[in-house]
Amino acid sequence: MRCPYCSSLDSQVKDSRPSDDHSAIRRRRVCPDCGGRFTTFERVQLRELMVVKRSGRRIPFDRDKLQRSVEVALRKRPVDAERIERMVNGIVRQLESAGEGDVPSASIGALVMEGLKALDDVAYVRFASVYRNFREARDFEELIDELTGEDGEVLSPPAKPGSAASRSDK
Ligand SMILES: [Zn+2]
Repeated sequence: MRCPYCSSLDSQVKDSRPSDDHSAIRRRRVCPDCGGRFTTFERVQLRELMVVKRSGRRIPFDRDKLQRSVEVALRKRPVDAERIERMVNGIVRQLESAGEGDVPSASIGALVMEGLKALDDVAYVRFASVYRNFREARDFEELIDELTGEDGEVLSPPAKPGSAASRSDK
């Protein structure tokens, strides 16, 4: 496994154990060249998934991207990392067992909303409000970029009508 810090191909496994729900093997690795430490996960992949974007373009499904967007919605919410991991696993299994290798990006957004609804009301509202606002005009990948971008404003509640808080033009 290539070291993410110095790109050496010689990383060594220091520790290997199952994740809490036994759906993955977590390996702690250390790079002998730069001393960098990182973790890799080994998971069952039932099938190759491709995401079909609104534009029709197909891109490989990226589990990490999905997990990051879920984590952003759950930022500062009292939800265990283990439950987040389980929810993401559940979404991936639903996608894998749906029978099609091609998954519309909107289906993934819908599954994330369902999962968050069960997990945490606040995170659900955050995700759903952003998702629904952007659904007509943007595809899921762009939504994820919004959620994970520098602009933390995206997940703030919308300003109340008449609020002058964000107005600088008057
Ligand atoms: Zn290294």
